[in-house]
Amino acid sequence: MEKKVYIVDAHEDVAWNALVLGRDVRRGVSETRQLERGSDIPRRDGTRMVGLPEWLAGDVAVVFGTLFVEPARKSYPKPHTYTTAEEAHELACAQIDYYHRLADECEQVALIGTRAELDAVLSSWPSEKPQVGIVPLMEGADPIREPAEAEMWFQRGVRLVGLSWLTGSSYAGGNAYPGPLTGKGRELLEVMAELGMILDVSHLAEEAFVEAMERYEGWVVASHANPRARVPGQRQLSDAMIRRLAERGGIIGIVLYDAFLRPGWSKGDPKDAVTLADVAAAVDHVCQVVGDVAHVGLGSDFDGGFGAEGAPQGIDTVADLGRLIPALAEMGYGEDEIAAVMGENWLRLLREALPE
Ligand SMILES: [Zn+2]
Repeated sequence: MEKKVYIVDAHEDVAWNALVLGRDVRRGVSETRQLERGSDIPRRDGTRMVGLPEWLAGDVAVVFGTLFVEPARKSYPKPHTYTTAEEAHELACAQIDYYHRLADECEQVALIGTRAELDAVLSSWPSEKPQVGIVPLMEGADPIREPAEAEMWFQRGVRLVGLSWLTGSSYAGGNAYPGPLTGKGRELLEVMAELGMILDVSHLAEEAFVEAMERYEGWVVASHANPRARVPGQRQLSDAMIRRLAERGGIIGIVLYDAFLRPGWSKGDPKDAVTLADVAAAVDHVCQVVGDVAHVGLGSDFDGGFGAEGAPQGIDTVADLGRLIPALAEMGYGEDEIAAVMGENWLRLLREALPE
């Protein structure tokens, strides 16, 4: 490709990995893997895929960095989980503080909250010291103790909010615990629209999705979700949901997790069981359903509950995202179309949705 391709990854649990697993994102992947050798982290959470050197090597200019807090489940007690809104709030505060600290301490990381900050990050490529921009995304809204508190989170830099994670929240049902929007959820949508926040519908129960799409006046995306037509299940998006998102100018971030790319995949399957052709096929499905290439991007979810053993063949770290480029070319996508998928679609949305 002649054209400069910025890669945007719309879903990485950077802060959660740092605070819960002690994974400093400034370290390269091989160093983290070395440090974790002999620990139970790779077996439990997967082999590390993300690090600043890999973002830079892979032209990953912008990452949506999550504030992810996990509800405690009786059968599965763990530290760093919450049962009350107060606990959820504290855990997420630590994560947004982490992103601010990271950007303060590391000159190659910047937080993006405005169009000007986005432009500054992009104009640092290529140079001696390109910067990776992080857009804070709250995955599951329980840390917002009351709808009015969304304003405080906006001021702290959060630009996207998903109402629920798979277990649901006080705001809405989730993909594994279905339910509608709650009264509090409807109120939160109003506050978010006033602030100009982007609604992330990943993990929303379908019932809540339908109502949210009717009610919400602001920008809507699915930061990390794949077509249900290829892998069945409530976690993925039906063709009707994909069309609805596209009608509203939304973007769908394709997850590079084997279980979301090929039905029947299970942990322990060989690396070549899922390939970049499967990723390209998921991208292509969205394009075929909506009739253009403007509503799909990447939302890898790397290190979000799976590691390199759960990513397609050819993808060992986040630096390998660019290997999707030839896979898309092989399906007949042209240079501009590929650039749209790899990052330009997300950049267009951010330019329109972020405040000056
Ligand atoms: Zn998720």
